[in-house]
Amino acid sequence: MSNDRLNDVIEQTEKFVKNFDKFYGGRLYLDKDFIPIEPQVPTAELETEFQPVQSAEDTKPKSIKKPEQKNPEPKNPEPKNKDNGSVAAEDFFGNVEVKREDWEFVETLEELNNKIKDCKKCELWKTRTNFVFGVGDPKADVVVIGEAPGADEDIQGEPFVGRAGQLLNKILAATGFKREEVYILNILKSRPPGNRNPLPEEVDACRPYLDKQLKLINPKLILLVGKVAAESLLKTKDPLNKLRGKTHDYKGWKVRVTFHPAALLRNPNWKRPTWEDMLQFKAMYEDITGKKLEAQSDDI
Ligand code: SF4
Repeated sequence: MSNDRLNDVIEQTEKFVKNFDKFYGGRLYLDKDFIPIEPQVPTAELETEFQPVQSAEDTKPKSIKKPEQKNPEPKNPEPKNKDNGSVAAEDFFGNVEVKREDWEFVETLEELNNKIKDCKKCELWKTRTNFVFGVGDPKADVVVIGEAPGADEDIQGEPFVGRAGQLLNKILAATGFKREEVYILNILKSRPPGNRNPLPEEVDACRPYLDKQLKLINPKLILLVGKVAAESLLKTKDPLNKLRGKTHDYKGWKVRVTFHPAALLRNPNWKRPTWEDMLQFKAMYEDITGKKLEAQSDDI
């Protein structure tokens, strides 16, 4: 290529870059959020801009306005990270940055309660009377988990109150635990209307709070009560009878499963298998902790 031709190519390239800069504000790299825009400069003017240089007059900068984007969409859409409730966003280069929420940084259950008690992440906030966080010893060896607050819990703001709660207290006492020595909570913190089963999306929305509670308590053993709680947390469709009598894993914590006290009120025949489950739970607890449990009562 002759020197004249080479100079011409260089000149054309510089011209192109200069024009590109005018139209697109210096953005030579396009990310996937970029919205194509209609040039607002008359085509004739554009053509003039790309004509070969004829004279010094042609090289003077033209007064071309930077076109505005139509219907700009928010950049960096913020999808929810299902596993921990954090918000994920992509930067200009497509790197995924996880924005952690305030409550994820707390170091006590009390702080966590204060941060999340006005939660509106699922529709249940609209019908709840009270947010039901949980109750018990923040450093408990044992955590008892149910599915969701019922009517009494919703009114009082505490899990496992009412008749089912009283029966749970008796089961715990017969096993050797005082209610205040364990931590009691539900997967959902707001009551589903009419005590219906939690929807999968409600469990997904609320489970990060449960995970944070478990991290702060760090129990030795978890007792899951009821088929719905077991299905939701262990992500299984196995019947309760298949889940009982085994040790399951939830994110590194050992989990045992038994009937929900409310189910025992409906069907007292399930008290016997529940008691068998609790004897196994007690043996496992004593084995793990080296502590000996003494029954507080034998009334179930
Ligand atoms: S159930 Fe959980 S996620 Fe839904 S509003 Fe209540 S606290 Fe928030």
